[in-house]
Amino acid sequence: MTGPGPDVLMQFLYALRSKGVTDKAVLTAMEGVDRGRFVRGIFAERAYEDLPLPIACGQTISQPSVVGLMTQALEVTPRDKVLEVGTGSGYQAAVLARLARRVYTVDRFPQLVRAARDLFAEIGLSNVTAITADGSRGLPEQAPFDKILVTAAAEDPPGPLMAQLKPGGVMVVPVGQSDAVQTLIRVRRLADGYDYQEIRPVRFVPLLEGLGKDG
Ligand code: SAH
Repeated sequence: MTGPGPDVLMQFLYALRSKGVTDKAVLTAMEGVDRGRFVRGIFAERAYEDLPLPIACGQTISQPSVVGLMTQALEVTPRDKVLEVGTGSGYQAAVLARLARRVYTVDRFPQLVRAARDLFAEIGLSNVTAITADGSRGLPEQAPFDKILVTAAAEDPPGPLMAQLKPGGVMVVPVGQSDAVQTLIRVRRLADGYDYQEIRPVRFVPLLEGLGKDG
């Protein structure tokens, strides 16, 4: 549990910057979360490369530069209450927790939620709560949110999530057919509607309805 050495950390941050992650607060947050803790087994030694890697339940931890670009697009402030849909390893939620006041993260696999919860406790993050739930319905009991980040691809921005955004709030979500190329979209809730902006092409696992079975 030593974390990356100074050279490895410098390379990690350099890769982020060269892919367009330029926001200082986001870079500082990512510098402060050891990705090696969120990757297990034989893949742990590749944790500081700019690669997506396999995690439990057939899911993946996103590429660090994609985590950075999505976090940057979300425009998180220290006052924000944030919902993440798709806990996966918990890495993205941990980065958000260093930028926001409060983070809720949901996944359809109880096993991933339990593992993320344990990691948050181990690294001393007390403002992030992991919950097993179908995030395509949002998290009504904690709504509304200032920011919503979806880390699985939907065919359209899910209606319940749009409804759980505060006016002025922002949602970042990959949109497209599940296996084809998807587009990262930023949805902003205005006083009287929504504004949509395309950010970049991405590739994510699909947002599925209902809970998953561990194993
Ligand atoms: N953000 C994660 C990576 C997400 S991978 C990280 O930092 O590691 C996408 C995750 O979305 C998977 O864990 C998958 O189980 C979850 N997912 C897919 N559909 C979902 C849904 N309807 N509700 C909640 N989670 C969902």
